[in-house]
Amino acid sequence: MKMKSLSEMIYQWICYLCPDVYVGSIFDIDLEELKKNGFSGIILDLDNTLVKPKSREVSQEVMDWLKNMEQLEYKRCLVSNSLLKRVQIFSDKFGIPFISRAAKPRKKVFWQALNKLGTKPEQTIMIGDQLFTDILGGKRIGLFTILVSPLDKQELWTTSLIRYPEKLILKWLRNRGLLKPLDVK
Ligand SMILES: [Mg+2]
Repeated sequence: MKMKSLSEMIYQWICYLCPDVYVGSIFDIDLEELKKNGFSGIILDLDNTLVKPKSREVSQEVMDWLKNMEQLEYKRCLVSNSLLKRVQIFSDKFGIPFISRAAKPRKKVFWQALNKLGTKPEQTIMIGDQLFTDILGGKRIGLFTILVSPLDKQELWTTSLIRYPEKLILKWLRNRGLLKPLDVK
């Protein structure tokens, strides 16, 4: 078997960290258009994608957006690294199945989510606010990945640490035209 060169390996990991789409918020995602393009399942991150990390409140806009997703007959699943108790609260509010303490970007958990959805990777979208968990994990199993800007700057300290290298990578991708400026709000 041919060994991959270091540059090939680096390139592959950069591809894994490059979202297919980068938008300002979930409301910039054209769910109808994606449905027309054959997508039928959506894996949703929770904190800083749908709700603020330290809050239990959900805006009416987010509830309406999730309702619209349901009306478009998307299968949906929450996949969060947060603890069961927190994810369960939102799962109940949304009426969406969930996986908590997911340890994204583990591949296994994304396959478990696909099992819950009953969709194939090429039919499934991952929406989240973090490159190293949501995008990396989704790309590793071939999902269509959408990165959203985080809802709130107030984050867990562990997440704050990750934001700096994340910014550097996004800048690197943007400078090489791998993130189209039009996609970035
Ligand atoms: Mg998040």
